[in-house]
Amino acid sequence: PLTLLKDPTLLKTDGLIDGQWRTASSRFDVIDPATGCKLADVANLGPADAQAAIAAADAAWGPWKARTVKERSVLLRKWHDLLMAHQDDLGRIMTAEQGKPLAEAKGEVAYAASFVEWFAEEAKRINGETLPTFDNNRRLLVLRQPIGVCAAITPWNFPLAMITRKVAPALAAGCTVVIKPAELTPLTALAATELALRAGIPAGVLNVLPADSEQSIAIGKLLCASERVRHISFTGSTEVGRILMAQSAPTVKKISLELGGNAPFIVFDDADIDSAVAGAFVSKYRNAGQTCVCSNRIYVQEKVYDEFVQKFAAKVLTAKVGNGFDAEVNQGPLIEEAAVLKVQRHVDDAVAKGAKVVTGGRRLQNLGSGQFFEPTVLADATSDMLCAREETFGPVAPIFKFKTEQEAIAAANDTEFGLASYFYSRDMGRIFRVGEALEYGMVGINVGVLATEHVPFGGVKQSGLGREGSHHGIDDYVEIKYLCLGDI
Ligand code: ADP
Repeated sequence: PLTLLKDPTLLKTDGLIDGQWRTASSRFDVIDPATGCKLADVANLGPADAQAAIAAADAAWGPWKARTVKERSVLLRKWHDLLMAHQDDLGRIMTAEQGKPLAEAKGEVAYAASFVEWFAEEAKRINGETLPTFDNNRRLLVLRQPIGVCAAITPWNFPLAMITRKVAPALAAGCTVVIKPAELTPLTALAATELALRAGIPAGVLNVLPADSEQSIAIGKLLCASERVRHISFTGSTEVGRILMAQSAPTVKKISLELGGNAPFIVFDDADIDSAVAGAFVSKYRNAGQTCVCSNRIYVQEKVYDEFVQKFAAKVLTAKVGNGFDAEVNQGPLIEEAAVLKVQRHVDDAVAKGAKVVTGGRRLQNLGSGQFFEPTVLADATSDMLCAREETFGPVAPIFKFKTEQEAIAAANDTEFGLASYFYSRDMGRIFRVGEALEYGMVGINVGVLATEHVPFGGVKQSGLGREGSHHGIDDYVEIKYLCLGDI
C-alpha cells in the first residue's frame, strides 16, 4: 500500500534529532495488521539518542521561546496546511500501519491538523494578568511562560492526533519537544515530522525517537529522570501512566496523562431509540472499538431493552469488516494478535457467566492472516464479567439491563476510570441530574462522538490528569510566574 503514495519522500524510517535524520545500528519492523506483511523497518533508537534529543531540545528552547508568538503561530499554521495538503498520503500510511479504514484515517489527519490550527491561533492568546495592588508603592503582574523541554509518549490508536494534541500546544507556548511515538505506528509520526521540517520548524524544536517496546521503556526512564525535561505528556494505558508518574516523582515533573476508560453508554426509556442505536454503534465500533472513549458498557432501561438489543444487533450486522483500503469496509483489523486474544477472552468469560451472544463472538478466519474480529453484541451482561470491569478495546458491546435512574448512575460510576460517558434521554430534568452525577471528564448526551479540537478532552479518577484541546490545552505547557514590583 505504501508504493501508492503521491509523495514517496514522506516515508521516513529514521529518527529526528536536532533537525538531522538519525539512523541506528538496530531496526524494528512495522507490520500491516490487515495482512501481517512487513511495511518497513525503522531505526530503533535508544537512551543515548534520547540524551542527544533532550540536549538538542534544550539548546533550541532559548531561541524558540524568544520568537514572537506571531512567528510561532505562522510556522504552526504552515505545518497545518502541509498536513492537510498531504491528507491522502498521511491517511494511506496510517491505514497501512494501524488498520483503520482509509476514510477514518483521513478523518484523523483532519482532526490532527485541527489541533495545529487551533494552537497556532491560541499562541497569540497566552495572556498574563495585572492584579490590584495591596500597596500603592507596588505593582503586581502574572506572566505565563513556557515550561521548557517537554516529552510526549504516544499510542498507536490515533497515530497522528495524539501527537499534534501535545506538540501543537507545546510549540505554541514556546516549548520544545521530544516525541517517543508508539512502536506499532512510527511511520505516520515520522511523515508528520518531515512536514514540520518542511514548514520551517527549526532544528531541535521537534525531535522524534522511534523505538521498539524494549527501547521505549529505556527511553521512558531516561525522559522521566532528566532534570532538563520539565513536562511529560502521555496517552496510553493506565498501567504505563502509573509507571511514568512514579518515575517522574524524583524530578517533580509536571505530567499530563490521558489513560484508559471504561465508558458507560446509558439508554433511558424516554430516549429516541433509533438515535441511541446509531450513537451506540458509532461510539462502540469506531476504530474497531480501539479508542479510549469507545463505549465499553451499554446500559439499557428494562422497558426498552428488547427493542434496543434487536435494533442494535440489526445495525451491527450491516458492518463490513476487512482491509481498511477496501472502500466498503467500516471495521478494520485489530492492532495485534494480543488484542484479538483479549477480546476473545472477554467474550468467552461473559458467555461462561451467562451472557448471550446476539451476533458475532469469534475471530474472523476467512480474511487471510490479519487480526479480524466479528463485531459482537452480548445481551444479559452482568457486573461480574471482565467486560464490565476492564476496557475491552475491541468490537464487543455487552448490554446490561437496569430498572431505575439511580441504579444506572451507580453502575456507570462503579469503576476506577472516568474518561468518557454517554447517555440518551429526552427528559430535561434527567439530562441535568445524570449529566451532573456521572463521575467522568466528558459526558455525551444524545451523541455518540464528542471530541473536537476546541473542547477540553480528558478524564477524572484513574483516567488521567489535565485536559487536551481547547484554551485549557495550553495550561500544562506554561508556568505561572508572579512579579511583584516595588519602589513605584
Ligand atoms: P496501549 O495500551 O495503547 O498499547 P501502552 O500504554 O502500552 O498503550 O503504550 C503507549 C505508549 O507508551 C507507546 O508509545 C509505548 O511504547 C509506550 N510505553 C509502554 N510502556 C512504557 C514504559 N514502561 N515507559 C515508557 N513508555 C512506555
